[in-house]
Amino acid sequence: MTETSTVRGTADIGVTGLAVMGANLARNFARHGYTVALHNRSRAKTDALVAEHGHEGSFVATETLEELVGSLASPRRVLIMVKAGAPVDAVIDQLVPLLDEGDIVIDAGNSHYEDTRRREAALAEKGLHFVGVGVSGGEEGALNGPAIMPGGPEESYAALGPLLEDIAASYDGEPCCAWIGTDGAGHYVKMVHNGIEYADMEVIGEAFDLLRRVAGIEPAEQAQVFDAWNQTELASYLIEITAEVLQQVDAATGAPLVDVIVDEAGQKGTGRWTAISGLDVGSPVAAIAESVFARSLSAQTEVRATAREVLAAGVESAPAVSPQDRDAFVEDVRQALFASKLVAYAQGLDMLSAAAIEYGWALDLGTIASLWRDGCIIRADLLDVIMKAFGGRDTSRHPEPGTRAEGQPLNLLFAPEFAQAMAEALPAWRRVVGAAVAAGVPVPVFSSALAYYDGLRADRLPAALIQGQRDFFGAHTYRRTDRDGSFHTLWSGDRTEVDGDGAPVVMPQPAEGDPTDETAR
Ligand code: NAP
Repeated sequence: MTETSTVRGTADIGVTGLAVMGANLARNFARHGYTVALHNRSRAKTDALVAEHGHEGSFVATETLEELVGSLASPRRVLIMVKAGAPVDAVIDQLVPLLDEGDIVIDAGNSHYEDTRRREAALAEKGLHFVGVGVSGGEEGALNGPAIMPGGPEESYAALGPLLEDIAASYDGEPCCAWIGTDGAGHYVKMVHNGIEYADMEVIGEAFDLLRRVAGIEPAEQAQVFDAWNQTELASYLIEITAEVLQQVDAATGAPLVDVIVDEAGQKGTGRWTAISGLDVGSPVAAIAESVFARSLSAQTEVRATAREVLAAGVESAPAVSPQDRDAFVEDVRQALFASKLVAYAQGLDMLSAAAIEYGWALDLGTIASLWRDGCIIRADLLDVIMKAFGGRDTSRHPEPGTRAEGQPLNLLFAPEFAQAMAEALPAWRRVVGAAVAAGVPVPVFSSALAYYDGLRADRLPAALIQGQRDFFGAHTYRRTDRDGSFHTLWSGDRTEVDGDGAPVVMPQPAEGDPTDETAR
């Protein structure tokens, strides 16, 4: 390595990339007593941070990456917080020649987990630790305590973990930060967190739409409904801010702000990545995917404008909930929202188990749920209950890599308290989805979540017919309920059955005089 690499300073951590997230994380470290070396590609952000917040702690402003590296104590910890994608690679390429074996490069941006896996492997070859860290909580969280999901080599956590745990949010005295698993596991878990966040926001949106369009409850009054819901098992940051947004009145028009905002939802990609990865690892994250599609549909402005003109509603008369039924309907929607939200969590956690098998990670769902209890956007007391359903928080418990943890429910919904909650919500959930369909109000996640629930619990699925169709047109074979092996029907021939090798199937003959033999019937 270069001459610079031998230079040692005293700063505890270096942060390069001082836009809002990097600057706030740097200030958070400094406020916790760490000396923070600062660097940004263009100097202005470094100077601004020191000028405005230099009094908050100990900062070392640097001009170049060489200076940044030279200012750090050993092992060097360099946190990159630049725009995700190519800029991260560009910074890593400049940093690597400046570092020594055992130094730690941290990417705390929203990088794709496959990029993190690639970068970790490349830096490991050079004797460097690369740690992909998921950070949630937005600007405010970065400053005051985010949820932090670090991946990378476990041994690097000994040198990095204490700093991250200090600046993280905490719940019941436990930091919302723990080592997640090797290479891209931290970024993967953050991605799934964001996927769940998309679904959580969408189900709240669907509840809002139903309360207004079916029950005629206007935004200001809905703010009170959401405030009340925030005192129930729905209590969460997202419900809380929903009430705030709904009670906001637009100063220019006097209308509810929500009516002035263009109804096209933006997205930065982590929800889409979650849906894609769900497909890749074979985990049916339909509620999460539907929430991404709902945003995409909202943004199809031109198509929607035409659709409004050419597509019929097919609704006989404007449906309405009578005043005496209004409270009951509001309670139904609350329960439907809770059940749909639980399904989104169940799907996200199931996806983590599938990914652990796919990528050889040792993911502990109890500990992961514990990190989301505070600091992040989906923070909610419900996460504490979910954590307990998966055996609680135990940062020393790591399942065998590539397996599901033993002794934990196969699916969140199977935990007794959640199975019970679903059973209780079910009648209301079905009524609400039925009312939405009758009224022509789209509820893609409410209804998709219910279909997932019914799909899970079905005795028989039409997948059997699909297998028959696949065998018909593609000789893909099928398995039988009564015998092992694979089978094919000669659809274009005499329609007898052959086994997977094409040999005629010899039907087992019932023993003579044995009327109880199943195959004889
Ligand atoms: P950002 O707008 O994503 O990125 C701006 C920063 O990247 C600036 O410091 C910029 O330097 C630097 N940069 C861009 N290209 C570069 C290059 N080729 N080489 C070196 N530096 C380069 O900043 P952000 O909003 O603070 O987000 C940072 C990361 O955190 C992103 O991955 C983002 O997705 C993630 N994140 C953001 C939030 C949020 O709420 N904003 C929440 C969680 C995670 P210059 O000043 O020189 O242009």
